[in-house]
Formats: sequence, C-alpha cells, structure tokens
Amino acid sequence: MDNVKITICYFDYNYFNVNLISLLCTNKTLRLMIPAKGYAAPKAAIPLEPFKFERREAGPHDVQVEILYCGVCHSDIHQARDEWGGAMFPMVPGHEIVGKVVKVGDHVTKFKVGDIAGVGVFVDSCRHCPSCLAGEEQYCDESPTFTYSTYDKDGNVTYGGYSNQIVVDENYTLHVSEKLPLAGVAPLLCAGITTWSPIQHWKMGKGHKVGVVGLGGLGHMAVKFAVSKGAEVTVLSTSPNKKADAEKLGAHHFLVTREKEQMNAAERSLDFIINTVSAQHQYNDYLPLLKISGTMVLVGIPPEEPSLGAVNLISKRRSIAGSMIGGIKETQEMLDYCAEHNIVSEVEVIPMNYINEAFERVIKGDVRYRFVIDMATL
Ligand code: NAP
Ligand code: ZN
Ligand code: ZN
Repeated sequence: MDNVKITICYFDYNYFNVNLISLLCTNKTLRLMIPAKGYAAPKAAIPLEPFKFERREAGPHDVQVEILYCGVCHSDIHQARDEWGGAMFPMVPGHEIVGKVVKVGDHVTKFKVGDIAGVGVFVDSCRHCPSCLAGEEQYCDESPTFTYSTYDKDGNVTYGGYSNQIVVDENYTLHVSEKLPLAGVAPLLCAGITTWSPIQHWKMGKGHKVGVVGLGGLGHMAVKFAVSKGAEVTVLSTSPNKKADAEKLGAHHFLVTREKEQMNAAERSLDFIINTVSAQHQYNDYLPLLKISGTMVLVGIPPEEPSLGAVNLISKRRSIAGSMIGGIKETQEMLDYCAEHNIVSEVEVIPMNYINEAFERVIKGDVRYRFVIDMATL
C-alpha cells in the first residue's frame, strides 16, 4: 500500500504579546503496522522483560523476516545499560539476526519467500553520501539507521532482533547460505563483520603476526579469520583458562596479559593488534607489543575512555586506528567466505527468558563464545 506522508505542526501562542513563540514540525510517514513481540529493557539497566510492539508492514522494497536466531553482542549490554549515552527506551536490542523470509514487497528482486536472510547492525542509511556510494554505509555521513534504539526514516523508533520478526529494506538484508548451522551464523552479522573488515582493510594475512586482545565474541571471530587468512596469531587474554580454546580456534600463541614477564618477552613482536576489549583498560599496556610501524585497531568500545600516552606511538612510529562493523557488500562477502570455508561462531544457544543471566555472564567473560537466542522459545 502507498505511504501517506503527513506533516504534524504544533503552534504555541503567547496570547498577551500575540507572538508565535514556538513552531515545531515533525514529518512522519503513516503506514499500516503489524503486531510484533520480543524482549525489551524498559529503562536503562533494568532487566529485560516481555514486550509487545508494532513494526511497519512490509513496503514495496521490504522483506519481512521471521527471526530464528539472534546473537547477544556486548554492544546490546552497553546500550541496554545506556553506557554510551543516548539510548532509547523501551529498547529491544539485538543486531545479529538470522531468519526466514516470510513476505516480500512488490518491488523486491533479491529475495523470495522461504529464503534464509540476515540482518546486522544497521537497516538503512542516506544512500547518497560518499560513504554510502562507496558501499561503506556504516560510515554514512548522516549516520546509518541502526537496527535498534534509533529513529528510522518514518520517524519510528527501531526495535532489534530480540523479537519474533523484523521488516527491512532488501538492500540492507543479507543472503545466508543454508549450508551452515544458522545459530552459528547469527553472530557473523556483527562479531564476524566487525573483525573481518579491519583484517581486509589492513590486508592482514600471510607473513603477518596478528595479536587479538580479548577472547570474547569479537575476539574469537578475529582469531578464526586471521588464522584463515594465513596470519600467525597470538591471543592476548586476561583469562588463563581460555588457552586451550584459543589453540582449538587455531591461535599459534597465547599470552596472559596480567603476567608482566610474558608481556615483556613479546615486546615488538606483532605487526597488528585487534583490540576487542569491552571494559576499562589501558592502550599503553598493549602498544609495546607492536613492531616499528605496527598498528593497533580498536574495535572494542569501553564506556570509559582508556588513556593513551604519546611515547609508545612516537618511539616506534606506531599507529592506533579504529574500525566499525562493515558495509553491506563487505558483509555479504564475509558471509559467502564463511559458507565456502565452513566458518561459524562458537555459540551457546539459550532460550529468550535466559537473557538477563546471559548479560551477567557476558560481563564476567563467562561465555564460550557467543550466546545466541533461539527465537522459537519467545
Ligand atoms: P565480549 O564477548 O564480552 O568480549 C570482550 C572480551 O574482552 C572478554 O571476553 C575479555 O576477554 C576481554 N575483557 C573484558 N574485560 C576486560 C578488561 N577489564 N581488561 C582486559 N580485557 C577484558 O564482548 P564482544 O561482544 O566481543 O564486544 C567487545 C567490544 O566490542 C564491546 O565493547 C562492543 O560494544 C564492541 N563492539 C564494537 C563494534 C564495532 O563496530 N567496532 C561492533 C560490535 C561490538 P579475555 O577473557 O580473553 O580477557
Ligand atoms: Zn554487535
Ligand atoms: Zn550515507
């Protein structure tokens, strides 16, 4: 059905001065809505609970996906606790989504009913800025429309994948191979692409020594990809009990970062470090491990800004850089690569009502290595 665009204007008069003191206009596109259900955080840092809401009905360019699995990213926890600021409540988190297409709009050409589809961290972007035109929508000048806790182009708040279904423009929806176990595919939509993208951008691979700081959801995918690309990989972890897992994932070396001697012995040994740490830490603890001209790429987003001294950079011409998720084209390439090379995330599948315990366990580092919600339990 065609959308109806209406402009709502509010006038507020000061009758004594006969002045127009405020004029506020909002543009909202009215659409038919469909019922949906999920789990939401009612307010910051309050446990998630069952939540009923509405999503837009699939428009001409949309696909409607019945969600089968959704990964639990540490960003969901940062957001549900409003640790970065600006979060919107009630919040339905979740941006590692895999499901089945149940409806397509009249103009959809890339998907058909019954296809397996994925949805990641954003569901739209401006489509005309240099980043969008370059297929790097994650860096959209007008900010991408994130999968949850943001306004979409209709002016409605977006709700994420801890829910039974989602409606997304086909250009922001990914194809997922049915060859792989789908629960293990879900985390590829964020943890996977966030680590794949810097590995591709900096061309990490054969002949490179790559350190991965933090063996969690992102970290274990960084290890899998870096190993698969032929790099010599060192895991840098605060958890000595993850050593055997690191080796199983293909890592060549394992360092306990709280053991000073191990860290000192590894100085100037790495070409790259991928830093996935989610909590307060010091960049200066890891920079000495880089060779001359080495680069540490930040992907972890701790709520508190870690401090950074100049000397560790200057003394060896080192760089510190950042990277955010990946564009749609690159995400599809990563998913196709995973299907070809049989790569999925290591997961613990949980029922929806376990989500609050799951959050606590992620914070304690007690997950091997991604919780994934089975939406059949919603
Ligand atoms: P996660 O599964 O909790 O993994 C984080 C790992 O960091 C932990 O497993 C732990 O590994 C290590 N760690 C935790 N506290 C630490 C501390 N105080 N000092 C040193 N290491 C510590 O989280 P995730 O889902 O992988 O996400 C990681 C971070 O990336 C989060 O901040 C998330 O918001 C962010 N993120 C960024 C992007 C992006 O686009 N850049 C995308 C997704 C997520 P060990 O036990 O091995 O030490
Ligand atoms: Zn994420
Ligand atoms: Zn853009």
